[in-house]
Amino acid sequence: MATRLLRVPPPEELLRPLAVPERLLLGPGPSNVPRRVQAAGGRQILGHMHPEMLQVMDEIKAGIQYAFQTRNRLTLAISGSGHSAMEAALFNLLEQGDTVLVAINGIWGQRAAEIARRLGANVCELLKPPGKYFTLQDIEQGLVQHKPLVLFITHGESSSGVLQPLEGLGKLCHRHGCLLLVDSVASLGGAPIFMDQQEIDVLYSGSQKVLNAPPGSAPISFSERAREKLLRRKTKPLSFYLDMGLLANYWGCDGEPRRYHHTAPINSFFSLRESLAMLAERGLENSWERHRANCTRLCQGLLAMGLELFVEEEKARLPTITTVKVPEGYDWKDITAFLMKNRGMEVAGGLGPTVGKVLRIGLMGCNSTSDNVDRVLRALQDALKRCHRSRL
Ligand code: PMP
Repeated sequence: MATRLLRVPPPEELLRPLAVPERLLLGPGPSNVPRRVQAAGGRQILGHMHPEMLQVMDEIKAGIQYAFQTRNRLTLAISGSGHSAMEAALFNLLEQGDTVLVAINGIWGQRAAEIARRLGANVCELLKPPGKYFTLQDIEQGLVQHKPLVLFITHGESSSGVLQPLEGLGKLCHRHGCLLLVDSVASLGGAPIFMDQQEIDVLYSGSQKVLNAPPGSAPISFSERAREKLLRRKTKPLSFYLDMGLLANYWGCDGEPRRYHHTAPINSFFSLRESLAMLAERGLENSWERHRANCTRLCQGLLAMGLELFVEEEKARLPTITTVKVPEGYDWKDITAFLMKNRGMEVAGGLGPTVGKVLRIGLMGCNSTSDNVDRVLRALQDALKRCHRSRL
């Protein structure tokens, strides 16, 4: 019997059914996936080069162009999470020795700087405390001092809950011969962004936040200026998987016949296609307004409970993720554990520089509803009654 040859038996745990509890995901992502998007991901797969699949990819591209408000032809979805788009942007834009200026006011700038350093880029940091955003003057000083080829900045800083104003930034960068790279993983669809009008050169996002698709695909787009920088490269990008030239061909962005590059996550792309379709049906402006209104309702409720918001300036608050200070006398872990255990609700603690300081409440895409605001406020009120440390 062949089984006698096996020293590792079939794992007991795999012989039991898959267990996935119902949860309301009100953390910083992933957010809940609507039935329509789930159903799309559950469809039978196609071959990754079948014409119908290439058609779905074209539709995704059109959906990203709408969500980003761009007509860039180099627009596609990376097969991977937000980090893969972040790496695709940096791996392709930068060569060894290139100077990049990274605006750091939370974990995402820190990560971008780390990735760029691994590439051998000359990384200059522009620092602001978490909870604050960069002004045009801050950026201009950095551009004058460091003369970078690329500026990295985060539109929605999900670790601190800050929305970075982008108005005028692209023009400013271009005046200084610099390309503008923006992370919109946590903000796309939840706060206005206009890639072409704002002269953003590279913009990327993720599937699992406002888009309400499963994690694992990441929209990205390159302006003509950025594309020219790719064409002028002296060396090939270090990553084959994330080489935008090869991906551009696979996605039909270069006018050449499409060739196999990697096997795309077909079902993830079905889901992404549906989530972009839902955004197109709702309309970007309605989506922005919905996030704004529910974030305002949440902030008012938190303040009414006597809690303090981490981001002081109202206009700098990210409409998708709200950060609230952990109140005196509480351990954030008690609160998040209480909500999970008793309400099946995810609210997260801080991340990176905000660990231990804040709770993060995400209201993204279909989760951004007034009902969810009221639910999370009621649940928090209960948690605050039960979790005070001085009672122990
Ligand atoms: N950038 C921002 C602003 C994010 O919020 C996240 C995810 N929390 C990422 C990048 C990384 O995305 P992922 O976890 O999908 O790799």
